[in-house]
Amino acid sequence: MSHLMNTYARLPVAFSHGEGSWVTDVDGKIYLDALSGIAVSTLGHNHPDLVAAISAQAGRLLHTSNLYRMPQQEQLADKLAALSGMQEVFFCNSGCEANEAAIKLARFYGHQRGIDNPHIVVMDKSFHGRTLATLSATGNRKVQAGFEPLVSGFIRVPFNDLNAIRSLVEHQSGIVAVMLEAVQGEGGLHPADVEYLRGVRALCDQQGWLLICDEVQCGMGRTGTWFGFQQAGIVPDVATLAKGLGGGVPVGACLAAGKAAGLFGPGNHGSTFGGNQLAMAAALTTLHVVERDNLLGNAVEIGDLIRRGMTEALSGVKGFVEVRGQGLMIGIELDRPCAELVAQGLAEGLLINVTADKVVRLLPPLTFSAEEASELVLRLSGLIKAFLKG
Ligand SMILES: *Cc1c(COP(=O)(O)O)cnc(C)c1O
Repeated sequence: MSHLMNTYARLPVAFSHGEGSWVTDVDGKIYLDALSGIAVSTLGHNHPDLVAAISAQAGRLLHTSNLYRMPQQEQLADKLAALSGMQEVFFCNSGCEANEAAIKLARFYGHQRGIDNPHIVVMDKSFHGRTLATLSATGNRKVQAGFEPLVSGFIRVPFNDLNAIRSLVEHQSGIVAVMLEAVQGEGGLHPADVEYLRGVRALCDQQGWLLICDEVQCGMGRTGTWFGFQQAGIVPDVATLAKGLGGGVPVGACLAAGKAAGLFGPGNHGSTFGGNQLAMAAALTTLHVVERDNLLGNAVEIGDLIRRGMTEALSGVKGFVEVRGQGLMIGIELDRPCAELVAQGLAEGLLINVTADKVVRLLPPLTFSAEEASELVLRLSGLIKAFLKG
């Protein structure tokens, strides 16, 4: 019997090594990776620049703690500020931690304005993590069930519905922030409408609320812009990053701007590991390579190829609903639950995911090539057609 806590229904495969968009299992079978370990392996596997940077950093220093200055943190914060148009960054180790920082920041902001019982507006079908506060913010009962009492202070509304938020203005006091994903990932690959995001931004400005964008999945170039919110040309007050930021090394970040900047002082928040030298080397190098190799452009181009290819291959097929998404964050919705496609993909040498029961989710490395895109379309469309027939 395994001594692992049974928190994941793991697939019966273990990988030994990877190269680019391909991974090899312990028996030598090779798979095309269209998932990147859930949007983490931004540069694919065994990227020479990332391996060199991590190795070199490991030979100098791994960690000193935040009791001391770390020039690499300052460099990465400068870089993230320049890319986002935001001002300050707190480093942590994961997405839920980045969101915890954002939630604390919003409550702190409220208290500073004399709001003793601050509330954050959150969305149906959202996903923000598995810690108590972030699962309470998450719009999925399955994530919450069994862990009550939930953390209070969240008000839930339908996603992509500006009037639902507007109607709170008169009926709910104590709102301090609106928290959303520019593209909902776990919830089934639902992009926010551009007009909706602009409307939420304007409403937050008007009401003095913070706009918090959870960019843990849709950030780091995945949609073809550095941040998902940039698809709408807006800048939030708070944004969170993790998954793809370190290209596989755990690192998270909470960014603040405008009225959310300058709020925390020493003692208000912290993390032992957060932003250590190893994580900073990995993130700095990941950002550098994304920029140098124009991987944002690649995400747009290859994402279009995959969406077009899948749409062409599946149009007219009974049971196929639609292909959607932005850049290399792609969802293919079917009319029925299709979780077994994951194991079928594995058998065919393809790593994919299914979320929200009926949506095949693709999150390939941003280095994915046109040839790999064709291969993906070929294998996946074959699988889906066979599944829908069967
Ligand atoms: C994955 C994810 C999280 C949680 O990140 P962890 O690193 O697993 O804690 C939060 N928000 C979004 C949008 C995510 O996709």
